[in-house]
Amino acid sequence: QQLILIVGAGQAGAELAFALRQTGSTARIVIVGDEPFAPYQRPPLSKSYLAGKVDLAALYVKPKEAYDTANIELRTAVRAEHVDRSAKVVRLSDGSTMLYDKLVFATGGRPRPLQAKGVQDAPRLGNLHYLRTVGDVDRIHRQFQPGFRMVLIGGGYVGLEVAAAAREHGMHVTVLEAMPRVLARVTVPEISAFYERVHREAGVEIRTSAVVSSIVTDESGDAVTAIVCSDGSTTPADVVVVGIGLLPNTELAERSGLEVKDGIVVDELTRTADPDVLAIGDCTRHPNVMYGRHVRLESVPNALEQARTAAATLCGQHRPHHAVPWFWSDQFDLKLQMVGLADGHDRLVLRGSTSTRSFSAFYMKEGRVIAADAVNRPQDFMIAKRLVAQQSMVDPSRLADESQPLKTLAS
Ligand code: FAD
Repeated sequence: QQLILIVGAGQAGAELAFALRQTGSTARIVIVGDEPFAPYQRPPLSKSYLAGKVDLAALYVKPKEAYDTANIELRTAVRAEHVDRSAKVVRLSDGSTMLYDKLVFATGGRPRPLQAKGVQDAPRLGNLHYLRTVGDVDRIHRQFQPGFRMVLIGGGYVGLEVAAAAREHGMHVTVLEAMPRVLARVTVPEISAFYERVHREAGVEIRTSAVVSSIVTDESGDAVTAIVCSDGSTTPADVVVVGIGLLPNTELAERSGLEVKDGIVVDELTRTADPDVLAIGDCTRHPNVMYGRHVRLESVPNALEQARTAAATLCGQHRPHHAVPWFWSDQFDLKLQMVGLADGHDRLVLRGSTSTRSFSAFYMKEGRVIAADAVNRPQDFMIAKRLVAQQSMVDPSRLADESQPLKTLAS
């Protein structure tokens, strides 16, 4: 019996295992994951799970019994430490080894560490947190208290989602963003300005161009008491959450001799250069046909799509991964949905006004729609997905005109 070994028990790894069974695979399927939990969804970690509205059971990708039913072996709290591709063997942290026929890296990523004076000297800091795992949020929860002062380092999606949840929980919240605007890496100035306004109206203090230079700790060195920025300003803190991006977990693949360029390099069938090794999810750099370049995406839809492609590839089918990237973010009462990649756009068309809490933004390049954001407009988003997938040529004035139903613009 063939053995398919999946390293990484996240959303991509779990989806692949079940997709393999759905595609008819009779292989022995083993997932190894270094977290102590069955695969779970991360998006709620900075939203409903942080806010205490759902518990861990609601986060699981599949109920635990489903693994037995589908005959999928799930080994948690075990880390893959070494891969020997010529012998096709993986060494695990419990000292055991596993021979594989096919190996899939689904190793995701880890938070980019904060570089600031004092952080490295104080490894025990009990109130300085990152946010990637259930364990991280469970630690944050101890200090997630109304009246506490929370400082968020990084004004990306994770930072802003945590800010919204903390503010709604009655905390005093300050966001320190190094760039001149929040969400600078992922969106246009108009959308950044919208989110800055919404957060400020809700009582979040947003400080941009705020480059963190050092931390101040209490006498014992066990807790951060303030964050110091390069302009000399000091922000007192009871709890600090750092959200400054992700480093893909590629070291294991790289040490085994596979090509890594900010992501394990794979083709549209999720194959590496080794015919017996695939990679999926946040840890991969893969070709995107629509945009004519390689990308690394950090999103659930991408993880799921690549997992389905990998399942097909492993079952001898040809199902290239050509999905249009999409993503979402929930902050306060706002549901933001994004489709496509906006970089390189030459025109931004707004449908509705960013001074309200419901509008859409379309990104155009040479007359075609290449990406869109929809805030509290799920119907617009459905149509935007089609416009982006087809890279539709659309008259911008009709796109902006709310008296024209959007669906008449999509063929
Ligand atoms: P991961 O979920 O990171 O899983 C990889 C797993 O592999 C991890 O458990 C890791 O510990 C394990 N692992 C790594 N190396 C080894 C090893 N050597 N041996 C064993 N195990 C190993 N996406 C959206 O689309 N929408 C959202 O709103 C959204 N919100 C998010 C909010 C937060 C707070 C976070 C952290 C992420 C969010 N994302 C969101 C991103 C999304 O969760 C990821 O894109 C998705 O989880 C990627 O899945 P993955 O399986 O590739 O990686």
